[in-house]
Amino acid sequence: MHDEITMSNLDFLCHRCGASLTPGEGSFYVVKIEAFADPTPPRLDTDEPLAEISADIDALIEQMRDLSEQELMDQVYRRVVVLLCRPCYEHWIEDPTGS
Ligand SMILES: [Zn+2]
Repeated sequence: MHDEITMSNLDFLCHRCGASLTPGEGSFYVVKIEAFADPTPPRLDTDEPLAEISADIDALIEQMRDLSEQELMDQVYRRVVVLLCRPCYEHWIEDPTGS
C-alpha cells in the first residue's frame, strides 16, 4: 500500500467542525488512525473434542466465504486519515477516545 498522503486527494476541510483549511500555513493537523482487530490467535478450548473444533473452523471458513475481501479487511484493519484544524486537534488529542 502506498503510504504517502497525497494532499490533492483530501478535502481541505476540518473533518470535525468543517472549517476550511489553508495548506502551507501550518494551521491544521493530519491525523492517521490505524485500527487493528485483536491480533492474538483464538484460544482453542482444549476440553472441546477435536471433531467439534474442526467443525467450528469449517463453519467459520464457510461464514468468511460469504464476505467480500473488502468486508473481511474492514473487520480486521481500518486506516483513516482525517484533517483537523488547530483548535479541533488540540481538543481531540487530549481526549482521542472521546470518553
Ligand atoms: Zn475544526
